[in-house]
Amino acid sequence: MKHRVAIVGAGVSGLTCGVLFAERGYRTAIFARETGQQTTSGAAAALWFPYDAEPAEKLIPWALDSYRALVNLSRNPSTGVSMIELRQFSRTGEIQIPHWAIPLDARPLPSSVMSCGVETSLNRRSAEFASGFSLNVPLMDTTIYLDYLAKRLLGADGSITENARFEKLEDADPKFDLVINCAGIGARTLVHDPDLEPHRGQVAIVPKIDNLSSAIVCDDAPLMYAIPRTNDCVFGGTNELSDKLAADPSTTARIVTECSRVLKIDNPQVLAERVGLRPFRKSGVRLERDRLRDGRTVIHNYGHGGSGFTLSWGCAEEIFVLAGLSG
Ligand SMILES: Cc1cc2nc3c(=O)[nH]c(=O)nc-3n(C[C@H](O)[C@H](O)[C@H](O)COP(=O)(O)OP(=O)(O)OC[C@H]3O[C@@H](n4cnc5c(N)ncnc54)[C@H](O)[C@@H]3O)c2cc1C
Repeated sequence: MKHRVAIVGAGVSGLTCGVLFAERGYRTAIFARETGQQTTSGAAAALWFPYDAEPAEKLIPWALDSYRALVNLSRNPSTGVSMIELRQFSRTGEIQIPHWAIPLDARPLPSSVMSCGVETSLNRRSAEFASGFSLNVPLMDTTIYLDYLAKRLLGADGSITENARFEKLEDADPKFDLVINCAGIGARTLVHDPDLEPHRGQVAIVPKIDNLSSAIVCDDAPLMYAIPRTNDCVFGGTNELSDKLAADPSTTARIVTECSRVLKIDNPQVLAERVGLRPFRKSGVRLERDRLRDGRTVIHNYGHGGSGFTLSWGCAEEIFVLAGLSG
């Protein structure tokens, strides 16, 4: 008989696993304290790009599998996935194109965009950036994509139970013989994992910016990104060790001022502020099979740091391998 699967967590990791299990004919139920926009996933930017997660040698294959799945989804606009040119800059020196980005057609950016990230006739001497490269990547509009995943799961007879707070994974009803832990930063207490760190990220949502059709990202301090979405634009950001979920108005002001300064525009109106805790795990993403105290099989799938969307489909596929199931 096919497994009955309980998934803890309704962020991008839990929803993506849920879709794969439900569509492959498993009785699949998601249980989560928060869903959709209330999760860390709802606060994400969310570009495909490996960032703030370990270890690189495992990450890249999962990321590339996810890339292919997301490119396929981008062919259908109702998914909330689209392809966008990502322009990754350095302020300090010659940026290296990562080896995995070369087959994705990554290319160095010309000097004409070093001034503010987009083409301009401004003098090169006023350049903000020293170097950069670009590549086309999937962009997930979280206001659409998370609902799309939930709808796909429900359409395949899966279920989602909200406001379900588990003290321990054994709380999953015994009728489920396979449990999947996609609790994000919640795994710190759920499975007492001291390796998990909250890498707090705050962003400001602003109206669409004229002439900004590429995502502009600079990881050198101060971290800065401007990501145009379907109906708005995400300005970021921060990455600090903190549990604080409330938005800090002075941080929003700093983000908006810095992004506007780089883009050489007036400060736009702030439509919303979002905060999320990236589930960074010092010893690396935990994607492994284990046993619950009551003997049931559990697969852990958490600790994706700043790359939860980027790794989502690759990690979900790997769960089938770990559970000894065919895809
Ligand atoms: C500002 C910001 C920008 C980001 N940008 C990107 C980006 O561009 N690209 C990218 O790939 N990633 C990005 N990330 C990272 C990404 O958002 C995370 O890696 C991802 O959201 C993790 O997803 P998840 O499903 O594992 O966890 P979450 O989205 O945190 O979901 C966890 C789920 O588990 C539930 N849960 C937790 N504990 C319990 C419990 N005890 N009982 C029941 N339910 C529980 C929660 O309620 C929730 O439903 C960004 C993050 C932030 C904050």
